[in-house]
Amino acid sequence: MITLPSSDEMYKALLDKNSQYEGVFIVGVKTTGIFCRPTCSARKPKYKNVEFFSSTKDALTNGYRACKVCRPMKTYQSNPEWLTPLLKLIESQPDKKWKDYELAQLGFSPSRVRRYFKKTHGITFQAYLRMSRINTAFLKIKEGQTVTRSAFEQGYNSLSGFSETFKNMTGFSPGTEGQIITINRIPTPLGPMMIGVTDEGLCLLEFTDRKMIETQLDVLKRRMKSEMITGKHVMIDEISSQLSEYFEGKRKVFDIPLVVPGTEFQQKTWDALIKIPFGVTRSYKQQAGVVGNVKAVRAVARANGENRISIIIPCHRIIGSDGSIVGYGGGVHRKQWLLKHEFENQ
Ligand SMILES: [Zn+2]
Repeated sequence: MITLPSSDEMYKALLDKNSQYEGVFIVGVKTTGIFCRPTCSARKPKYKNVEFFSSTKDALTNGYRACKVCRPMKTYQSNPEWLTPLLKLIESQPDKKWKDYELAQLGFSPSRVRRYFKKTHGITFQAYLRMSRINTAFLKIKEGQTVTRSAFEQGYNSLSGFSETFKNMTGFSPGTEGQIITINRIPTPLGPMMIGVTDEGLCLLEFTDRKMIETQLDVLKRRMKSEMITGKHVMIDEISSQLSEYFEGKRKVFDIPLVVPGTEFQQKTWDALIKIPFGVTRSYKQQAGVVGNVKAVRAVARANGENRISIIIPCHRIIGSDGSIVGYGGGVHRKQWLLKHEFENQ
């Protein structure tokens, strides 16, 4: 559960156009029905006319429209400006354990740092630090460094201590041979998404609040005989930049290799989905026809629901025969948003 700062604090940040609150809250203006970023340059509303939300999604579901001045639906491609120096420090000293007073001394508000990580990554700041330490070690071991050397560099006194922490965080022992799926979270205007890649391509892209996500991860691990680790990967950077272009209405086709293990029928259904162009919808019945059996409507709907790569395999472009927007794993409000976005940017 994300907790917002107090209304007074947020209203002050709004008046100050304080960029440190970018991504922390969204403000809805009751009199105009528009929602803004904290830093919007438009005239600021009265206190009694504002309503605060933790995400653009919440503002949308409460009936607000996005402001044309500050464009709150635009993705945050990079980390907020105020956080960049801290991320650099963390990267340059991966074995450092950051204390609140040290953050404060450097001019970072510890509570703001914690809120940011909770909101963007869905984990605590300390867990993020532990994860990046393990990830650094993982990347080096992958490049050929010995496990002992990595343990030493990460500040562990014993190899077994390191191996245990590594195993706790990733589910496998350092130095394990075999396929690894790298997972991470990326922010989007519709909320954070979980992304999973291997060196061969994208294997998972899903909204983090989707109920199926744990199951999806288990299926992937089993199907691909892989272990998972949270961290960085060049493919993740590429996908997030393409997604960002999509959300800005600048990209209609994705150019990313996909890794989609599944049954023959699932493969067929997903292939058929990819062929539906941006901004075009089809009914389940039409899709069943494409797959080769008009009676397979239910099976098609099921395979759609089992799609692990949202947006890029566009299962949101399938609607009911009567035009109704039904059944979307990521939530109907997201499906509505995606279709509207595509119609408007065609
Ligand atoms: Zn605005």
